[in-house]
Amino acid sequence: MNVTIPFNKPFIAGKELYYIAQAVTLGNIGGDGRFTRDCCRLLEERFGIPRVLLVPSCTAALEMAAMLIGLGPGDEVILPSFTFVSTANAIVRLGARPVFVDVRPDTLNLDDGLIEDAVTERTRAIFPVHYAGIGCEMDRIMAIARKHGLRVVEDAAQGVNAFYNGRALGSIGDLGTYSFHETKNYICGEGGALCLNDPSLVERAEIIRDKGTNRRQFFRGEVDKYTWVDHGSSYVPSEICAAFLYAQLEMLEAISERRRRVYQFYRKNLKPLEADGLLRLPVTPEDCEGNYHLFYILLRDQAARDGLLDHLRGEGIQAVFHYVPLHSSPMGQRFGYREGALPVTEDVSGRVLRLPMFHEITPEEQMRTIASIREYLGAARGARVLVPAAV
Ligand SMILES: *Cc1c(COP(=O)(O)O)cnc(C)c1O
Repeated sequence: MNVTIPFNKPFIAGKELYYIAQAVTLGNIGGDGRFTRDCCRLLEERFGIPRVLLVPSCTAALEMAAMLIGLGPGDEVILPSFTFVSTANAIVRLGARPVFVDVRPDTLNLDDGLIEDAVTERTRAIFPVHYAGIGCEMDRIMAIARKHGLRVVEDAAQGVNAFYNGRALGSIGDLGTYSFHETKNYICGEGGALCLNDPSLVERAEIIRDKGTNRRQFFRGEVDKYTWVDHGSSYVPSEICAAFLYAQLEMLEAISERRRRVYQFYRKNLKPLEADGLLRLPVTPEDCEGNYHLFYILLRDQAARDGLLDHLRGEGIQAVFHYVPLHSSPMGQRFGYREGALPVTEDVSGRVLRLPMFHEITPEEQMRTIASIREYLGAARGARVLVPAAV
């Protein structure tokens, strides 16, 4: 079979080039022009966030968040090991120590029942990650944070337009971070946003974002010259990216609805395999409303996952797995972590498989993917072994 079903295909909502042309015509392609303001206002109003700053990536937003809460050497931060490297890099680049806590077997999110045991005198913050756009148990996490005087930074890279108890992910902690990378739901190539839910952090955030200068205050006429006042970097994205992003955010509901259909199609058609005990489908707790960011399945063991991955590839279907747990990575080992430390994380990262998921995937492509999964698991079941053809 030679028809390929890609893992991801960036979706173009329609007005991206038109808005970019407008930005060019207006003569402002630097940062913080009309489209940046429109994107921020839309996100603030829609998700109830006091202040949103557009930044070049979620990685940049996480870096800014870590600087804003004042992390430094000797500090500890609690986060999952089952996450993308950027969550941890934001912490370690300031000399703080990542304290990896295991995930829950149901949502693969930070296990809120294990957080308090990891709190020490040095703990400064918790960085929960909303995996697959399903919210962590934020009520419990916020309560623990308040009790111990900790800051909370939500890595909501995958959680744009998803909700927990009616509140938008990214709007609940002191700070939240979004990604608009081309693999996420709403995209602009590379992009991100920092959600400032604590208004006392806004002024310094503007300074850090603009190379450590008070240029924003100068433009507003609040100071008579602009100069170097603090740490900072180049965290202002171009209007060209913001123009692209605005075209996507305008279509927020339509994009979400389409992803919901793709998600439900997989879910419905894979349900019988779950009933047969051959795989496990994603879990959405009662208090969460997801955004259908990704569709994963959990296989029985790593051999089944790896075998199915090879089988799908042989059929021209690109499925992928992630993450190599951060605590067992070479960098994680430098912090003294060893394999075996986080059993749930290690178990699920060996069994998880993400299926092709994008706006324009057709029902035929989804059916082909489902049929291939069925074929592999059915064949494996018939032989009573779940061993890949090629080891
Ligand atoms: C995608 C992702 C990031 C990084 O986002 P960028 O915008 O590419 O920097 C960080 N954390 C998680 C959980 C992600 O999925």
